[in-house]
Amino acid sequence: MEKISSFQVDHTKLNPGMYLSRIDQGVVTYDIRFCKPNGGVYLENAGMHTLEHLFATYARNSEYKDHVIYVGPMGCRTGFYLLTLGLSHQDAIRLVQQSMAFISTYEGEIPGATEVECGNYREQNLSSARRYAASMLQVLEGYTVKQLEYRR
Ligand SMILES: [Zn+2]
Repeated sequence: MEKISSFQVDHTKLNPGMYLSRIDQGVVTYDIRFCKPNGGVYLENAGMHTLEHLFATYARNSEYKDHVIYVGPMGCRTGFYLLTLGLSHQDAIRLVQQSMAFISTYEGEIPGATEVECGNYREQNLSSARRYAASMLQVLEGYTVKQLEYRR
C-alpha cells in the first residue's frame, strides 16, 4: 500500500503548533500538535478525552459551527485533528484560539460525560484539559496563516 501523506511529514522536525495537513474535496484537515512528536511527553488520556469533549462542544456551538466537520484526538496522543469545510485558514486559527481560551478557564460539568453519551465517561480530567488548552493558547498567540505550513 502507498504511504499516506500524513506519514510523509518529518515528525522529528515538528514543534507544537497548528498545521495544515491536507485538503480533500474542500475538506481541510488541520493537525493541532500539543506535544513534540516522540518527545517523551504525551497528552494523558483522561485530559485528552476531556479536551475532546470541550473542544468539540465549543467548536460546534461557535460562530463557525456550520464549517466544523470533525474534531478528535490523534492516536499518538500528541494532538488533535480539526476538519473544516468552507472556512478560511485565518478563521480556522481563530476558532482554535477561541476554543483553547474557552477550555483553559472552563469550570463546571464536562459536556457529554455521562454513561448514556460517552464510551468511557469516567475517564475525564478537567484540570489536565485546562492545562493543555492554556499551553496551546500560548503557542497560537499571534499565529499566522504562514505558520500553518508543514516544512517537509
Ligand atoms: Zn467521551
